[in-house]
Amino acid sequence: MSERIILVWFRNDLRIRDNEILVEAIRKADKVLPVYCFDPFYFRKNPSGNSKTGNLRARFLLESVADLRKSLRHIGGELVVRTGNPAIILPQLAGQYHVNEVYHHREVAHEETDISEQVETALWKIKLNLKHFIGHTLYHKEDMPFPIKDIPDSFAVFKKKVERDSNVRLCVGTPDSMKTPVIPDAGKLPALQELGLDLPVDDPRSAYTFTGGETVALDQLKQYFSNINQMHKNKNARNSGSNDHTSKLSPWIAMGCISLRQVYWEVIKHQDSNSHHTNALLLDLLWRDYFRFMFKKHGQKFIAANSDKDSIATGNQDILFEGWKNGETGVPLVDAIMHELNATGFISNHSRQITAGYLINDLKIDWKKGAAYFEEKLIDYSPASNWGNWAFVAGVNDARESRYPIASKPANELETKSGYIDSWLPVAKITN
Ligand SMILES: Cc1cc2nc3c(=O)[nH]c(=O)nc-3n(C[C@H](O)[C@H](O)[C@H](O)COP(=O)(O)OP(=O)(O)OC[C@H]3O[C@@H](n4cnc5c(N)ncnc54)[C@H](O)[C@@H]3O)c2cc1C
Repeated sequence: MSERIILVWFRNDLRIRDNEILVEAIRKADKVLPVYCFDPFYFRKNPSGNSKTGNLRARFLLESVADLRKSLRHIGGELVVRTGNPAIILPQLAGQYHVNEVYHHREVAHEETDISEQVETALWKIKLNLKHFIGHTLYHKEDMPFPIKDIPDSFAVFKKKVERDSNVRLCVGTPDSMKTPVIPDAGKLPALQELGLDLPVDDPRSAYTFTGGETVALDQLKQYFSNINQMHKNKNARNSGSNDHTSKLSPWIAMGCISLRQVYWEVIKHQDSNSHHTNALLLDLLWRDYFRFMFKKHGQKFIAANSDKDSIATGNQDILFEGWKNGETGVPLVDAIMHELNATGFISNHSRQITAGYLINDLKIDWKKGAAYFEEKLIDYSPASNWGNWAFVAGVNDARESRYPIASKPANELETKSGYIDSWLPVAKITN
């Protein structure tokens, strides 16, 4: 009897721990063919004329794929890497390696689901099934106390019901060995230049270092708990300005270098001593789930609802938008934040709300242009989180109903004490 081969199509799940598609493929097949495709779709030009994926995120992605390859090799596997349209590449590889089935994690945003549909159609033509798994959320769709169509639109109700009536599943085990077919040409990772991008220059002012991959994600999680333990011990933390309880895990979560369940169960382990901080982290994980489920329920309508609330175009919109992007609005805090975003690819949630709110409410620019710019720049870009949050700040979905904590402090009051503006804004740009 011929051997059974399953192709595992890695996308935003670049890890070997708590990865159901990998574990299931190893369990069900004689041999597993792990594949990652650098899809030119994500590197084409956006409306600003830049790459849809900026160079900081692209570098993070390359590091994450390289780390995944290393981990797979460590357990006896290999990662096939190709650059091209997965709807062409996957059927080719499936034919070459006599694959019996293809596994992947289901996505929710329309561009990602369009790609899955194209792959599914192409595989059908060669009589192969694309099997969909659910692996990006904290709560599994099938454990929810309601079907997708009845998920409450209010975050408060969603949270209450999910926490009361559902449980987070345990992580699936980490494979310690696997078999792949003989792979004559596993393929090299492309250089940034081959993806049409320049090498990023690291800004010495950046408060954080983001290196892609599961290995660093696990270190970052450890570091988070050590930081909050330290804050807990330091009774003066609140006054010393070091009271930032956020995890900075979002880039790794967005690329699936770590799963929400892994973070959740670590939080539960540490919860006794630091429940104030860890509860805040659990709440944030739930926000991520909420946006994803809203996309699952409403599709594109989630960000198109109440379009009469969209901004009204003014004559010099293009100039104002360019000023916003380049940190040249004349409002010091907004400008400093945009400089930080452009230089590092990461800004805090508060900063995101301030700059998004300024674009929408003060400049009256279409929020979708801002969301597309964040898509290019953010290292942690995630379709449902980015477009969902922007839609909330824009008020196209009812933020009050969901008690969404939108930043309300006046821009010039914030973070000035810590020298934040001075450090990010060229002196000549501070105009008021
Ligand atoms: C306009 C705007 C755009 C945004 N775009 C993105 C995006 O593209 N990708 C992204 O991951 N987050 C996005 N966010 C949400 C949030 O700003 C970031 O997730 C957060 O700042 C990441 O920092 P952290 O990992 O330290 O978060 P923590 O506070 O430590 O939270 C832990 C995790 O929970 C999730 N999370 C936290 N807050 C939110 C939220 N409001 N919505 C959804 N998930 C959340 C993230 O995965 C985060 O890593 C956006 C917010 C706004 C206002």
